[in-house]
Parts: sequence; C-alpha cells; structure tokens
Amino acid sequence: MLNLFLITAPMISTKKLVIFLTILLFTTQVWAKSPRALFSFIQLTDMQMGMIANNTNSDEEIRLYTLAINQVNKLKPNFVVITGDLVNNRTDSSQLKAFKQITSLINKKIPVYIIPGNHDVGSKPTSETMNFYFNNYPIDKFSFTSKNVQLIGINSSLINSGIAAENDQWEWLKKVLAENSNAIRKILFTHHPFFTTNINEKDSYSNIPQPKRQEYMELLKANGVVKIFAGHYHNNAIAKYDGIEMITTSAVGKQLGKAKSGFRVVTVYKDSIVHRYVEINSFH
Ligand SMILES: [Zn+2]
Repeated sequence: MLNLFLITAPMISTKKLVIFLTILLFTTQVWAKSPRALFSFIQLTDMQMGMIANNTNSDEEIRLYTLAINQVNKLKPNFVVITGDLVNNRTDSSQLKAFKQITSLINKKIPVYIIPGNHDVGSKPTSETMNFYFNNYPIDKFSFTSKNVQLIGINSSLINSGIAAENDQWEWLKKVLAENSNAIRKILFTHHPFFTTNINEKDSYSNIPQPKRQEYMELLKANGVVKIFAGHYHNNAIAKYDGIEMITTSAVGKQLGKAKSGFRVVTVYKDSIVHRYVEINSFH
C-alpha cells in the first residue's frame, strides 16, 4: 500500500493541487460567510409572552421563542437586537421569568441589546413604569458602533409621553448622532414603526403620531440614518422616506397579519445592507 501511494502521489501535479486547494478555500469561504460582509445581526421582536393565551400562560410563546433562539444560535450573528414587547403583561412575574429564561439561552458569545415596547413600559410611560422596567432590565436605549457603522436603539413609547425622559431621550439622540458624524452608515431600532406605508399615513395605534413622526424622521435623515428596524405591528411592512428604509418586522409570538412567526436577519456590507425575514423552523 505504501509503495502504491508513493507511485501515485506524484501523478497529481503541484499546479493542479494548488488550483484544487485554491478553489476549495474560495468556495468554503463563500459558503461560510460572504467575505465582503462587515457583520450580521438578528432582530427579534414581540415575543410578548402570555399574549396568545390571554395572560393565562405563555406556553406557545415559550415554544416559538425557544425555536427562534435555537435558529439564532445556529446562524451565529455578531449580535442580537430585541425590539420590545417582551411580555404581554409587564407586571406578570411568570411572563418576565419565561422571557429572561429563554433569552439566556442565546449563546453567551452573542451580545444582546434590548429596548422596551409599550407592553414593557406602558403605552404612556410614567416615572413609576420606567422605574419598574429598570428593576428588570438594564437599559432602554443604546448606541454603539461596529466597523464604523452606528447602531442606535430608542425607547419609542416615550415619544408623546410628556415625561422628562422623553426630552432627555431626544437630546441624547441628537448628541449620539452628532458624535458619530464619521460613521459610514447609521441604523436605528425602535419598537413603534414611525409609519408602515408612508410618512403621511394617518396617526394610528401602529405608528408614531405626527408631528413627532416628522420631527424624528428629519433628524434621522439629516444625520445619515439609512435603515430603521421596528416591531409592534405583528406583521411585516416595508416603507420608504427620502432615502430611509422603514422596516417593520413581524412577531416571534402572536401574528396579527399574514406573516408567520419569525425574525429578521440583517447583513451589513460596506456599500449596502441586506435583510430578510426568516420564518421560525424554516430558515435556509
Ligand atoms: Zn407594541
């Protein structure tokens, strides 16, 4: 056998071997992750523990959210953003416990950023509801950069609440946007979509009412935000305003439209941002 090997081995020319290895290396890289991608992340939203069974239990949300997390761990994004409505009843300790328990199953190497929805801080937050929220979660907004791309999350329920935190957040947003004027692109996360069809749509439960909607959009536009990712709608929707794409992602939990339970996978490239909605248990 040894002799046979010694005889046959030189028959593969060095040139052919180099070509073969080059092709193997190239295809493996393409298959694993596009080499041009700067990073990828996953947006999860509205698991809203307890909604389906009307607060009697969270069994179905536990099942769906666990399946989603299994897929997230397989996809290995650089980070995860959860855009609110974590629970249906913010004071129900079993719903809070279920949310935290399943969230803790996300691979510890993947950072998780959480912003609240109206079910977590109230439709019109007060200092009491915000204090209650901060007893359970560390932050309600964030800003960081990755590969010179700025990622910002806001607590959209504060908009039109009239409490001091609303103006504080507005000033904070202006500041973090200005501080990162050199970012190659900027992405915003919010629980409420600013709009789901177009910026001039009527005020409704599903959007941020005027005139704040326009004020925020003008600030975001002036500071180079190109994508906004939202939840709250329990259905998918894509809309545009003056170069900004407003992407609303359907729920991990209960559906209120045609979409099925799922989440959004986003890949950020140097010159573009690509996103797709992935149904739970059917990703490919
Ligand atoms: Zn909501």
